[in-house]
Amino acid sequence: MGKPTGFLEYKRVSNPTRPVEERLKDWNEVYVLRDKETCEIQGARCMDCGVPFCHRGELLPTGASGCPVYNLIPEWNDLIYKGRWREALDRLHHTNNFPEFTGRVCPAPCEAGCVLGINEPSVTIHDNERTIIDNGFKQGWVVPEPPETRTDKTVAVVGSGPAGLACAAQLNKAGHTVTVFERDDRIGGLLMYGIPNMKLDKAVVQRRVDLLAAEGVIFKTNTEVGKDISSKKLHDSFDAVVLATGATKPRDLAVEGRELEGVHFAMEFLAANTKSLLDSKLEDGKYISAKGKNVIVIGGGDTGTDCVGTSLRHGCKHVTQLEIMPQPPKDRNTDANPWPEWPGNQKVDYGQHEAIRVQGKDPRKYSIMTTKFTGENGKLTGIHTVEVEWVTNENGGRMPKAVPGTERYFKADLVLLAMGFLGPEDKIAEELDLERDRRSNYKAESQYKTSLKKVFAAGDSRRGQSLVVWAINEGRAAAREVDLYLMGDTVLP
Ligand SMILES: Cc1cc2nc3c(=O)[nH]c(=O)nc-3n(C[C@H](O)[C@H](O)[C@H](O)COP(=O)(O)OP(=O)(O)OC[C@H]3O[C@@H](n4cnc5c(N)ncnc54)[C@H](O)[C@@H]3O)c2cc1C
Ligand code: SF4
Repeated sequence: MGKPTGFLEYKRVSNPTRPVEERLKDWNEVYVLRDKETCEIQGARCMDCGVPFCHRGELLPTGASGCPVYNLIPEWNDLIYKGRWREALDRLHHTNNFPEFTGRVCPAPCEAGCVLGINEPSVTIHDNERTIIDNGFKQGWVVPEPPETRTDKTVAVVGSGPAGLACAAQLNKAGHTVTVFERDDRIGGLLMYGIPNMKLDKAVVQRRVDLLAAEGVIFKTNTEVGKDISSKKLHDSFDAVVLATGATKPRDLAVEGRELEGVHFAMEFLAANTKSLLDSKLEDGKYISAKGKNVIVIGGGDTGTDCVGTSLRHGCKHVTQLEIMPQPPKDRNTDANPWPEWPGNQKVDYGQHEAIRVQGKDPRKYSIMTTKFTGENGKLTGIHTVEVEWVTNENGGRMPKAVPGTERYFKADLVLLAMGFLGPEDKIAEELDLERDRRSNYKAESQYKTSLKKVFAAGDSRRGQSLVVWAINEGRAAAREVDLYLMGDTVLP
């Protein structure tokens, strides 16, 4: 520990956000970096606890606590306090292939587990991580590191999200020849065509993809497995196959009026926006515009928030976000939800901050369920809702029950369905006759192995809809199992 009294002397200073008025006029990142000196001081707040819960990475009932990739947090906090940035970078890359992604978009379960967080604001672990890697790039320290020798083994990775990329990076490091198949025109999965540019600049994603290509990973874009190349052919042609196809089946809302023009899945909206932004700075018009529209976002999670932020940047007339679950408490209930659990109190994310600034109040409405969409001449004009209370059913499960007399109507020109995802698509599993779990994910519980020899699975397609950091964890862990399967031993962590 660089400074034993640091946590007593220094207050928490996070990365600042750009002013709402400024950032709503562009698609650049919301968060900017603190200077290096501030970050060094923040490193001194780390207490180097005997048992550092921050890097433990456990799944507790309310979510993850600690870092899922087991980042060596107290070590690099100490190194940055001492100004030893290069060593901090090496420690960080030791456990995390892509800290520039997690340093931007990870919700930081590490900070939920920080011991200082028991009675003081936790250490700025997430922001320190981003500073270490962004500084590493700035200094020119992050360069391609191709393997010195190659094995004669070939691996196909299907899907180029964080799970596929982490897996490919690790297997390439071990000397195998890795080909990543991606059906989109750009590499990155949801890092590229899900999370919007203002949260994660696409140049940051492309920079890492270019590094991986320079290290020898082969990328095949516009290639859908199950359509452009059969899963069986892939299985026959490679020594191992890793499925990292994500949880891409969106949950639909089967109510009257669903077919009306103006009702879309959130991903149709977000992906088209990023593609058009990258292809033409939104000049090709190949996206769903929210400009001048009354927008209703159904779903209160990350995806819904990204729809709010995107709609505001288009210049929507008004945006409302509906959530079927009850409003979380403003403050943490420390008895029912104690440290180091993920705090279940209400968060105000960037999209809500922006809506509050523009519209004067939080766009979210809770305990509310959509009953139907109505329209004229096939076009959406409004949405009907009812409030719900959560009751226990005969099986002991919780279910929403409509409260009579609470029916409402909202004018709407655009509805975005952001209600979560239902596992991977069926095609590959059907072609290879793979077993699935009860949530329809690829079943690969033991050593990331599916029911078919030499086929492995990782990321959202195996564990269900999750986080970038868990996808990286799964990609790395699956790579280790593949290496072990191919070589009988493994050099990978
Ligand atoms: C809008 C949105 C915002 C999010 N924000 C955050 C956030 O802020 N922080 C966070 O930690 N997590 C966030 N997440 C979750 C996170 O993005 C995912 O958990 C993570 O990307 C999963 O990684 P993955 O590699 O398993 O799959 P994905 O990133 O989904 O990648 C799967 C890839 O497989 C490709 N593919 C699928 N089938 C085939 C096929 N047959 N052939 C070829 N390619 C195929 C897909 O095109 C896709 O590119 C967000 C998710 C969404 C939808
Ligand atoms: S990857 Fe996420 S959990 Fe791990 S140190 Fe970074 S911000 Fe924390």
